[in-house]
Amino acid sequence: MEEHLSVDEQIIAYKGKKSALRQYNPKKPKKWGWKIFVLSGRSGLIHGIEFYGQDVDVPPEGLQVNKPGQVVLRLASKFPNDRNFKLYFDNWFNSPNVQVALALRDIWSIGTLILNRAKGLKFEFDRSPPRGTHLTKCMKIQGVDLFATQWLDNKPVTLLSTFVASTPEIAVSRFDRQSKDFNSVPAPQCIAVYNKHMGYVDEINSYLGRFRVTTHCRSRAYIKIFLNFVNIIATNCWLQYRRDAENVLEKKNILSLYDFKASLAESLCREGTTSGHTKRASLEIHMSRTSRPGPRAKLPSADIRLDNLGHWPISIGSGNRGAICKMTGCSAKPVTKCEKCDVHLCIVSKNCFKVFHITPVL
Ligand SMILES: [Zn+2]
Ligand SMILES: [Zn+2]
Repeated sequence: MEEHLSVDEQIIAYKGKKSALRQYNPKKPKKWGWKIFVLSGRSGLIHGIEFYGQDVDVPPEGLQVNKPGQVVLRLASKFPNDRNFKLYFDNWFNSPNVQVALALRDIWSIGTLILNRAKGLKFEFDRSPPRGTHLTKCMKIQGVDLFATQWLDNKPVTLLSTFVASTPEIAVSRFDRQSKDFNSVPAPQCIAVYNKHMGYVDEINSYLGRFRVTTHCRSRAYIKIFLNFVNIIATNCWLQYRRDAENVLEKKNILSLYDFKASLAESLCREGTTSGHTKRASLEIHMSRTSRPGPRAKLPSADIRLDNLGHWPISIGSGNRGAICKMTGCSAKPVTKCEKCDVHLCIVSKNCFKVFHITPVL
């Protein structure tokens, strides 16, 4: 689990009308769909998912928390205690009681705040304050210190946090209409912290949109949801793989998201089979490419190559010679190939066939 995590919503697009959980969201590009809440970290990895409309089962001690706030608490319920996680979310989720409930578990948070969610909180500025003016108020609930900061940008922005207030002040660049130039405007520290860490979900969304698993037919709601989760899991695995692979592999050998998904699909389809030809599944699934096609991996994935199952040598006849042995460092033109992997490999003069099927990294 990462130190900095953000909570945001995501829509699984669905236009069919047969699902009670379907929501309309005018702010999103795909307006109809199911709303899910996603906890994601700096690396883009998704650490938790909640469905909209799920029952609540985390009663915070003596604290009244509204429904959106309970989503945050449910997602945070899996965190280990006393590790000082930092959680970021927007005003839809935020209220003082959510932050107090989190802080009682040593989870520190920051979020934009709708003013009427904090009773008695008021900011009084001098008359016509200059842009960039800010005020911070402290509150104490159940022994937890909360810092509410209002910053006057082109309109007032209010942030509530349990770990950051206004100092040290920062400067942001803003366009001034009168002078028609960019001016430096002061801003409280909490703005910098919030802006830096919100939006991990946007990054993972950009990956989730690529090479989706789709179905040709007009599928049922639960199939759509299932495929969407397959997509999330595969993308998450790739992000984890990429993070680990960066330490041990050269950059050019790290699989792209497309190749990773293609190799995963191939492994799942061929797993446990003895032939290289997979039967077409009754549900026709294909991966749609949204970017320009690149060179395709010709070798089977290591999972298949090393699975010791059904790799039979077959003769291709001397008339078909021409393809070069796929074993690294061999340039012979063999008359045999592996039936399952569908690659040419020597077996007569030397045993590339065996080496190919037992060497972890070629
Ligand atoms: Zn093979
Ligand atoms: Zn060979």
